[in-house]
Amino acid sequence: MIMLQDLLAQRANPDVPSALSGLFPQDTDPRALSFAAGSPREDLFPVAAMRAAFDTAITENGAHLFQYQTAQGNPGLRAKLAARIGKWGQVTTTADNVVLTVGGQQAIELVAKAVLNVGDEIAVEVPTYVGALAAFDLYQPTYHAVPLQADGLDLDRLEDTLKRHPRIKLLYTVPDYHNPTGITMSIAKRRQLVDLANRYDFIILEDSPYRDLGYTHVPLPAIKSFDTAGRVVFVSSLSKILMPGLRTGWLVADGDLLAAILRVRLASDLETANVVHAAIDAYLEANDLDAHIDALRANYRAQCAALVQGLTAYFPDEVGYTRPDGGFFDWVTLPEEVDAAALLTQAAIPQAHVTYVPGTNFYPNRDVHNGLRLCFTGLTPHEIDVGMQRLGAVVKQAVRG
Ligand code: PMP
Repeated sequence: MIMLQDLLAQRANPDVPSALSGLFPQDTDPRALSFAAGSPREDLFPVAAMRAAFDTAITENGAHLFQYQTAQGNPGLRAKLAARIGKWGQVTTTADNVVLTVGGQQAIELVAKAVLNVGDEIAVEVPTYVGALAAFDLYQPTYHAVPLQADGLDLDRLEDTLKRHPRIKLLYTVPDYHNPTGITMSIAKRRQLVDLANRYDFIILEDSPYRDLGYTHVPLPAIKSFDTAGRVVFVSSLSKILMPGLRTGWLVADGDLLAAILRVRLASDLETANVVHAAIDAYLEANDLDAHIDALRANYRAQCAALVQGLTAYFPDEVGYTRPDGGFFDWVTLPEEVDAAALLTQAAIPQAHVTYVPGTNFYPNRDVHNGLRLCFTGLTPHEIDVGMQRLGAVVKQAVRG
């Protein structure tokens, strides 16, 4: 007899865990301090202002607000987002090139769907965002992993890879306050990356949901700002700077790529939730988003500083870690023989009451086991200090015995 499982597509094979599985390790220990989930702080959500904005949108538009609209999404909101990425990212674009999506996640998946045939070759920086790997995995690509350096993607290694694999058609990168490492790509590398894309003919998927959350400087020009050939798709999201429950992301694309993305978007879900987007548009009319982001930055800056301080104070020299100046995350590299997943279940949770995300799923081939991701948004600076002390002790013991 054929089992139901045999009727499933290979891309949904339950024997192969999704890259997104394990992102939220079970916090079965209620005493645990969690550096795991990468969620924004709920106490900073502008709920009252958003409620008023929903009211305004419904009062001003009536029944028509609830009608089918367009595949690209609410024009007012698209124009505002185009202006934002113009101002802060130096990207010259208009509402016509913006597509509203169900979070940045859908934008990534739509680009994958529009570009990848099964088995195509793609390049990703490692480690990289698990949600993007989950989206790419659906097309069963051949991955080429390119390491990150302190100033972003290692472009020499990338060029080397491109020479050996000229059929690579897509490169995925998170240039600003990267998930999971917090690393930001330098301006020089952004420019050089576009040059490489022009020379070796590939598409760049620039995913930048954290770009407004820098704690020491204003956002750098987007990679898209150096694009002269329409080969960069810029993706961002309101999840980290407003609220993820709005499920609102957006992309900027040009020409044939834009047309292809709109075509697959129609097949996916016809269009976005216009009521939500009209409300966000009304929110942006009535409120100063940059002032709200300033308040977020002031809070997250202190949490980020506490984390880096804790790592410096309590972790042994054999352990490497990044020094983010924005975003939500820090990446810790343990000595090669220490498995971060085993450490979590054997010591971190049961002994130290502290959790994090083990890093294996951030690698497309799941072949690196000594990295871990820490998110600092969910704890106060004092809790972060206590958590780092506890984790530092566990790590010390694992490293030195
Ligand atoms: N890209 C990156 C790098 C992320 O960290 C996230 C959220 N964790 C997303 C995309 C998608 O988020 P959302 O769909 O909520 O916009």
